[in-house]
Amino acid sequence: MKKFYLISILILALVMPLFAQGTKEQAKEEKVVNLYSHRHYDVDDELYDAFYKKTGIKVNVVKAKAGQLIEKMKSEGDASPVDIFMTADAGNLEIAKQEGLLQSISSKELNKVIPEHLRDPEGQWYALTKRARVIAYAIDRVHPNMLSTYEDLSSPIWKRLIAVRSSSNMYNQSLLASIIANDGKEKAKEWAEGVVANMARAPKGNDRDQVKAVAAGTADLAIINTYYLGKLLTSKDNEEVKAGKAVKLFFPNQDGRGTHINISGAGVTKYAPHKENAIKLLEFLVSKEAQEVFAAKNFEYPVRTDVEPSELVKSFGNFKEDKLNLSNLGKYNRDAVMIFDQVGWK
Ligand code: FE
Repeated sequence: MKKFYLISILILALVMPLFAQGTKEQAKEEKVVNLYSHRHYDVDDELYDAFYKKTGIKVNVVKAKAGQLIEKMKSEGDASPVDIFMTADAGNLEIAKQEGLLQSISSKELNKVIPEHLRDPEGQWYALTKRARVIAYAIDRVHPNMLSTYEDLSSPIWKRLIAVRSSSNMYNQSLLASIIANDGKEKAKEWAEGVVANMARAPKGNDRDQVKAVAAGTADLAIINTYYLGKLLTSKDNEEVKAGKAVKLFFPNQDGRGTHINISGAGVTKYAPHKENAIKLLEFLVSKEAQEVFAAKNFEYPVRTDVEPSELVKSFGNFKEDKLNLSNLGKYNRDAVMIFDQVGWK
């Protein structure tokens, strides 16, 4: 981990000079937009190329973990060259907002196509794609009628049967934040305690590895983001395809609030030198054309209601989503981290 961190910092230091050039006045004229992104999917570069072809605006990207990028923006202050902060989780966007690193923008287009619960009420960040955090179950050992809610995952019937990644992962922090928002801190803590007791093994690996653990018989259930099953099933690696085929997805809480969803999203930074270009890029990323690419190539759910998910994703089934405003994921992030710590979720 430490090594990775050092390398990231080194890469950041090397990439930086590409960004910083000229005064603020000169910057306004430049046909560029600078991005700090924690998204880790190849499809993004393809979309930036398409944006360049369309507008002549070049997209420069620095990729790193959201926490590192937040620290970077803080240390750069008003000299920061960055225009857009992009993450694969709403929690980090809200944290950036609370740190005063983003600015409110007004875009009729963004407000029209992005549903209200998927954007900051003050226009500081917007969802670009959606994903659901769901239960992948072993088709040969679990019947879907044994499953119901996230809350039920703490029931003793799942003792030593659940595979889930570490609590340092933001997807888990946001899931717990949503449970705090819906059920309160007390119940959320009891839940986390119950899930720890039900873990098939100490948390390790990413979401894909949890599905592989189910396929290998180490666990019966895995908690994962929907698109990872799409990636497994279309992988070039046969073992991954096999793992994907060993599970089906269950969408929890359908009789109640709905399944927890999260987003990839972005906001314009407080000192953005190329604010107009930044808004143009966000508008492009929620255009029909871009949303179709996100859906087809990264198996994410479009934020637009007039673009359909890919056929494969549709085959996972329809579901009702939790309409909790996603700013709550950032609001309860600290509480979630504290609870994970208290209950020993590694
Ligand atoms: Fe991911």
